[in-house]
Amino acid sequence: MPCLSSVSQAPLGPVVYRTRKSPIVLAGFLVLFAGCRSAQPPVVEQPVIGAPVIVSAGEWGSAPGRFAPELRHTPERLTVHHAGVATKPGEDYRDKMRRLQLWGQREKHWPDVPYHFLIAPDGTVFEGRPLGIAGATNTEYDTRGHALVQLFGDFEREEPTAAQLDAAVHVLAWLSTSLDIDPMSLRGHRDYAKTSCPGANLYRLLEDGSLLTRVIERIRGAR
Ligand SMILES: [Zn+2]
Repeated sequence: MPCLSSVSQAPLGPVVYRTRKSPIVLAGFLVLFAGCRSAQPPVVEQPVIGAPVIVSAGEWGSAPGRFAPELRHTPERLTVHHAGVATKPGEDYRDKMRRLQLWGQREKHWPDVPYHFLIAPDGTVFEGRPLGIAGATNTEYDTRGHALVQLFGDFEREEPTAAQLDAAVHVLAWLSTSLDIDPMSLRGHRDYAKTSCPGANLYRLLEDGSLLTRVIERIRGAR
């Protein structure tokens, strides 16, 4: 058990939120303290998952509108969505991101895509709206406080791909450790609103705890 001597934060763009320590993160702190025998007071490095490779908003050609100040929020829970639209072979997901943004701006008057991170069937992770800006929804729930991760596909009819689930686990573990969000907060959209989202085939992995287990294992593996 190394004695750690510095404090670090994950690079998370311009806004890094510190809210509360999750029980798992606190447990990690206690283990680190217990293993440290230095005469100096131990300075604990927060165990943080490295960021996944992310196609930034700039890279996919995002052109967001103006974010009203009242949309600012602090993410403190993890919420999973699906697109609700079946995937097609050979789709260009950068183009799909631009079309999703344009649709939201024209039809819904949203300033940006509705989610914070979006994951293509091949596991490519796209940056959506800024994490410090609350998401958008067609349903009745307050999106403030939610870090929104969407997987492309209609999981009422399709299964999420293995690559997509691997990427989702990485994104969720990274968000949890970087933003001090309790992984136990992981839920699906339908837990908050009248909707089938994130689709039966993805919701099943939330209901049986298997997605949460993978996220927690990923966090533990970083220590
Ligand atoms: Zn949803």
